Amino acid sequence: MARTRRDAPEAPDPTVHSGNYREIGPRRCSVHGVSVTTDGEAPGWCTPGAGFPVAYTVPAIVTWPGGQDQRVLLARRTDCSFACPICREPLTWDGGCDECHGSKTPSDRTTWTFPGDRYGDYEETEDGQMLAGDGHHRFAERGPRPVATEAEALAAFAAIKQAVVAVEARGPRLAPAAAVTEADEPVPAWVTSPEGDA
Ligand SMILES: [Zn+2]
Ligand SMILES: [Zn+2]
Repeated sequence: MARTRRDAPEAPDPTVHSGNYREIGPRRCSVHGVSVTTDGEAPGWCTPGAGFPVAYTVPAIVTWPGGQDQRVLLARRTDCSFACPICREPLTWDGGCDECHGSKTPSDRTTWTFPGDRYGDYEETEDGQMLAGDGHHRFAERGPRPVATEAEALAAFAAIKQAVVAVEARGPRLAPAAAVTEADEPVPAWVTSPEGDA
């Protein structure tokens, strides 16, 4: 939380709210401290880390609601560097597009795709193990890729519900959040609100 000033008691946290500050210096990798690239095909690239930092720091001027300016060092999560090849809106790091869903006919869910490449901030071993990363997004899988079909998504959703029921049955003291989180991974976001799920 930002320092609270007597003259700006309700000031929003500048690390959470965008639009009330302007950057006045280079963005630096939060791991290596070096400036990331700002142009070319890969803006945001950290050369020593050979990847895109998950987070960066940047000096900025925050303008508080009262009109006062304050010089701060912001820490922010890095947005995906790439644009959707179909609609040109920013992609997410998993290669998804929240705007067109990777389809020229987005109203038809059966045509949805991940239009971009997937970048992961974790390490995947040869045998498919997922290990914690070192703070950089790196190329993981070429796009475009299909999304799960509705049947696949519903099957995954049913598996999650089963896992949740199993966890609940064991009682709250034995309910590890990780069990639910792991089951949650492969499910596309939209399956949490399809019409008619029960
Ligand atoms: Zn770095
Ligand atoms: Zn798009």
